[in-house]
Amino acid sequence: MSDIAQETIDRLIGAVGPKGAITALEDMQPYLVEWREKWRGRSPLVLRPETTDQVSEIVRICAETGTRIVPQGGNTGLVGGSIPFETGDEIVLSLGRMNRIRAVDPLNDTMTVEAGCVLADIQQAAEEAGRLFPMRIASEGTCQIGGNLSTNAGGTAVLRYGNMRDLVLGLEVVLPDGRIWNGLRGLRKDNTGYDLKHLFVGAEGTLGVITAAVLKLYPMPAEREVAFIGLPDPESAVELLALSKQASGGQVTGFEIMPRLGMDLVLQLLPEARDPFAESHPWYVLMELSSGGGGGALRNAMESALEQGFEKGLVADATIAASVAQADDFWALREGLSEAQKLGGGSIKHDVSIPVPDMPAFIRRADQALQAVIPGFRSMAFGHIGDGNVHYNPLQPEGGDKDAFLGEWQAVADVVHGIVADMGGSISAEHGLGRLKRDEIRRYKSDVEMELMSRIKRALDPANIMNPDKAITP
Ligand code: FAD
Repeated sequence: MSDIAQETIDRLIGAVGPKGAITALEDMQPYLVEWREKWRGRSPLVLRPETTDQVSEIVRICAETGTRIVPQGGNTGLVGGSIPFETGDEIVLSLGRMNRIRAVDPLNDTMTVEAGCVLADIQQAAEEAGRLFPMRIASEGTCQIGGNLSTNAGGTAVLRYGNMRDLVLGLEVVLPDGRIWNGLRGLRKDNTGYDLKHLFVGAEGTLGVITAAVLKLYPMPAEREVAFIGLPDPESAVELLALSKQASGGQVTGFEIMPRLGMDLVLQLLPEARDPFAESHPWYVLMELSSGGGGGALRNAMESALEQGFEKGLVADATIAASVAQADDFWALREGLSEAQKLGGGSIKHDVSIPVPDMPAFIRRADQALQAVIPGFRSMAFGHIGDGNVHYNPLQPEGGDKDAFLGEWQAVADVVHGIVADMGGSISAEHGLGRLKRDEIRRYKSDVEMELMSRIKRALDPANIMNPDKAITP
């Protein structure tokens, strides 16, 4: 039984034609369930428009009838933002059929793409034009650029190229009243008032539907050097990062950290993987340098950074990949870690950021404070330390009760997020708020900030039809 009037459903189906509408319960399932099955919703209708005009018509009908809309990209988000609630009074607007690359302009270093383009296809199209689109995330084979923009996605090359907000020059958006805002400008300079595109980047679908974007392209690196490095502690990693940026003239593209426990779990997960070192180290860093130059300068920069690291006692051991295959093997160790955590039992996940130099102190403080809450828990902090963003995901005590451990989720999050706030950090560095942190964020942002966000939401979406009750309650 639908909670949306049949007449409205018929009008919405009419806007896209039968090919663009799904009403059978079993066909709708992939759109109503989050990929880990953490969230499950209900809806009478999934719409899959093919053009911006169709999106505009859908939103216009929804505005007229007060029908709520949940925009959805690849549905790989980790905070429940793309799944409708269980109320059954929301439609899902899936952008997957809007997957055309409208233009590639190598001289302007831009490409114009529709929101439903899969990230990996955009990377491929850029490469075919001899350019780099540098956003790199493990979900790139499924997530869509509209979702990347709406979550201001990060990933493993933020250190060099920035996050999604830094990679977009223009947007096309269908506003909550159905009007189309064409802001598809490929300009690097445009100081003509408020920069409206930034309202929609990271808005998690609460202010409108992104239908297309102008993205920035970069020169394709001619050289790439990847090293795997053993270190005594996170402090050494932070110092090595600063030193490597200097030694390479700012060409550090990736700088990822993992503890020994992470290495043990990944080696268990990937039977073909090998520990790059004969000896065990407490911490590891994967460092990637890349440049357009060629001629071996980058190898010299990597060697110089590592030599200086050895001399200062920051580096215990290091190996530079001798081939592309070995570089990929190093990355596989890092990228396998999200999955490998499961082998350690329950883990309580946090996606936090702290100013880079303070990250080691944060890890120590959080580890110490959590021992009082869950004695014997195992520390697991890994990820993008080069951006000041680690996934701080404590693991259950060895042999302990998984459910009892996970039952402490909020108590653990309160401790961790309290320390993050105290150190001037953020409780959601990459993944957004969605359903997961919608209420919790109120404790960590000032009243002024929350009120400004509510005012913006009310100004753009007074009827509250765009992804209501996700990220923010106006
Ligand atoms: P969805 O999950 O479909 O939607 C996300 C949000 O955006 C929802 O609120 C939705 O309503 C809204 N939305 C989607 N499309 C539109 C649109 N066109 N207009 C308006 N609103 C829209 N994230 C990172 O930042 N960095 C990582 O390193 C990273 N690694 C990941 C690794 C794995 C294995 C997985 C599964 C996820 C990872 N993620 C990461 C999270 C996720 O992939 C990103 O948040 C991604 O940007 C979501 O894109 P999507 O197309 O799947 O969006």
